[in-house]
Amino acid sequence: MDCIFCKIARNEIKTEYVYEDSEVIAFNDIKPQAPAHIIVIPRKHIEKPDDLNKDNSRIMQKLYNAALKIVELKKLTTDGYRVVLNCGKNAGQEVAHIHMHILGGRKFAWPPG
Ligand code: 5GP
Ligand code: ZN
Repeated sequence: MDCIFCKIARNEIKTEYVYEDSEVIAFNDIKPQAPAHIIVIPRKHIEKPDDLNKDNSRIMQKLYNAALKIVELKKLTTDGYRVVLNCGKNAGQEVAHIHMHILGGRKFAWPPG
């Protein structure tokens, strides 16, 4: 699959993992939007949140379990953090491989821009 995040998952693009298990990996965003900006992905390619269904949506639980470990590891729970899923054009999804952003280390505006 010619997909940047699949290549990171296959170790074809060398990237240090912040977290990994048999189904999920996480790594620092290459263009961080906050002091902490971590991307959490399934190893298996799923294009976007719309493609989740009753057969594959359990991966979201796995992604969130990983996120909980990462926010502990990065000590983000005291001051808070944001979890983001961009879905499609209007949300600015650039990489067509489902991913969770974890952002922390600064205050975030609401509503988002
Ligand atoms: P999206 O806009 O699709 O929700 O977010 C994709 C994110 O992946 C962006 O924040 C972008 O900086 C990050 N990203 C894109 N390519 C790479 C890469 O090759 N390595 C890493 N570590 N992050 C990437
Ligand atoms: Zn992919």
